[in-house]
Amino acid sequence: MQDPSAAPRDDPVVPLGETFPDVRAGVRALCARFPGEYWRGMDRERTYPSDFVQALTEAGYLAALIPEAYGGSGLPVAAGVAILEEIHRSGCNGAACHAQMYTMGTMLRHGSKEQKQTWLPAIARGELRLQAFAVTEPGTGSDTTQLQTTAVRDGNEYVINGQKVWISRAEHSDLMILLARTTPVEETTSRRHGLSVFLVDMREAVGNGLTIRPIRTMINHATTELFFDDLRIPPDSLIGEEGEGFGYILDGMNAERILISGECIGDARYFIDKATAYAKEREVFGRPIGQNQGIQFPIARAYAQTETADLMVRKAAALFDAGLPCGPEANMAKMVAADAAWAAADTCLQTHGGFGFAEEYDIERKFRETRLYQIAPISTNLILAYLGQHVLGLPRSY
Ligand SMILES: Cc1cc2nc3c(=O)[nH]c(=O)nc-3n(C[C@H](O)[C@H](O)[C@H](O)COP(=O)(O)OP(=O)(O)OC[C@H]3O[C@@H](n4cnc5c(N)ncnc54)[C@H](O)[C@@H]3O)c2cc1C
Repeated sequence: MQDPSAAPRDDPVVPLGETFPDVRAGVRALCARFPGEYWRGMDRERTYPSDFVQALTEAGYLAALIPEAYGGSGLPVAAGVAILEEIHRSGCNGAACHAQMYTMGTMLRHGSKEQKQTWLPAIARGELRLQAFAVTEPGTGSDTTQLQTTAVRDGNEYVINGQKVWISRAEHSDLMILLARTTPVEETTSRRHGLSVFLVDMREAVGNGLTIRPIRTMINHATTELFFDDLRIPPDSLIGEEGEGFGYILDGMNAERILISGECIGDARYFIDKATAYAKEREVFGRPIGQNQGIQFPIARAYAQTETADLMVRKAAALFDAGLPCGPEANMAKMVAADAAWAAADTCLQTHGGFGFAEEYDIERKFRETRLYQIAPISTNLILAYLGQHVLGLPRSY
């Protein structure tokens, strides 16, 4: 199991592996069909980029990590990183569909043979979307082990009650991975137990006990609140063993963090490309602004930060793909890549002066979008707490 709470260990040596140049070229060519104008329109109206998601699906990129036996390409997480990085470096946004890459892993690692046969080939063919992942709750936030949404066995069904928040793409997904409590907190023997993972068929659930309410946010992210009111789902919705769901979700979280790090690296490179080009071209006081060290050095620093972060992302992906524990690396990759993206975003905006604020330059949109990585899918503080407490052995704060 890829346990993020793994104890410190000797550092294994793994080759960083290939960089998937052909995959990258294919993604770049696809993204060229979705220029800034397309994303600006989506952002303005807060519209889900269905055409973009459809194009990625048809090209097979969203099934890249599904094993060939189930109709996917069977590529490693490192290839998923390359796909998401190129999407973001091209100025596009993978948030509309990235979840399928890591939520699928929960089914793959812990689902039954029947579940995998039923769902994975249809997802690989693009007939079904598994884009929604429901963990966060308004009352418990980052303290996932205390979540309160319940799944109670009633005869031949589970009955779900509770509430989730920030569940992205729920309106645009056929299937959703749900983490819910099957044992009351007071009856559990440890914080890790008592939660279970379910695959919810949204096509049947919405209007029959599940209500989705969109949340308008500072970015176009199709995120929502979910209300469960006696939603009844069949027993074969349960993935793996009852009560073990938190561990299954942790398994998937390393993949999620590594893949999202790829998006951060893509954003950072997008901003550095833009800032560099503008700093060479824009002349003020009779010379290119990039000749001034006050402009040049922050870009150079963001570049150094990005290249360094990329090494950690590649190391985390290589460990994951080798089946080795990678909790510390996945968390560090997410943190340093998000920081590099944020530094590059700030530098890019500063380099553009007033024009950085103009919608048509796309920088203000990407700036807003890349800010999310300091908070989601895990906030920077929680990564630091994990490193402090689980890797360095410092006293626990929670
Ligand atoms: C646009 C968007 C999309 C999202 N999509 C999804 C999704 O699809 N599915 C899903 O399940 N969730 C999703 N999330 C939720 C996201 O994972 C959480 O917002 C994130 O994990 C932080 O949890 P929280 O918002 O409850 O913050 P809280 O847990 O309330 O924390 C608030 C602040 O306090 C800090 N903090 C809390 N505890 C500590 C501590 N012990 N030490 C130091 N600092 C602490 C946090 O770092 C944070 O900065 C999304 C969020 C957003 C904004």
